[in-house]
Amino acid sequence: MEETRIKCSECERDFGNEDALKMHNAAKHSSRLKKEKTTINYKKIRNWTILAVILAVTFYGIFWTAGNMNGNSVVNEDELDFSAPRGAIHWHPTLTIKIDDKIQNIPPNIGITNTVHFPIHTHNEDANAGVIHMENDRPTKKTVTLGYFFEVWEKTFNKNCIFDYCTDSGKLKMYVNGEENFDFQNYFMQDGDNIIVEYNHFE
Ligand SMILES: [Zn+2]
Ligand SMILES: [Zn+2]
Repeated sequence: MEETRIKCSECERDFGNEDALKMHNAAKHSSRLKKEKTTINYKKIRNWTILAVILAVTFYGIFWTAGNMNGNSVVNEDELDFSAPRGAIHWHPTLTIKIDDKIQNIPPNIGITNTVHFPIHTHNEDANAGVIHMENDRPTKKTVTLGYFFEVWEKTFNKNCIFDYCTDSGKLKMYVNGEENFDFQNYFMQDGDNIIVEYNHFE
């Protein structure tokens, strides 16, 4: 009858059965087994790290893109080359928005809710005349811009677009007290200003 021998893969010694090999491995090669285990753990950690990095880069990319799209319509304080007024203000510029010669409705209570009263807002009694109330105890550069009013209103306004109307399909112009103005969302509004934003589709 032929005897089955089992060989140790590490040192080529023969063993009569599985148990003997196991005992031999535990006695002679246990440090190697441990090492192998440790190596596997490192691999696992490396894979998780790679996955985490990929996720982080993906999310960063998404937020960066979203932020950039937003950046188009919001006021960037660093771009404003004027100083904020000192002390409290209560000013009333007037805004008229015309799309294809039709005056657009500016609703009352923009910037006013039960819980929030923005330092720029409209009131019932004169919103339909386009009066913007700048009631601000501590004005910053950003909060006195025309763009800030649109931010509070949650509408788009910049040199390219008013609402959803953009310069790819029409002409956008802005006038302050009868003179063309090119500051758009960065315009520093003054008390009594008469501001007109005009959009006309190409013929
Ligand atoms: Zn007021
Ligand atoms: Zn008010």
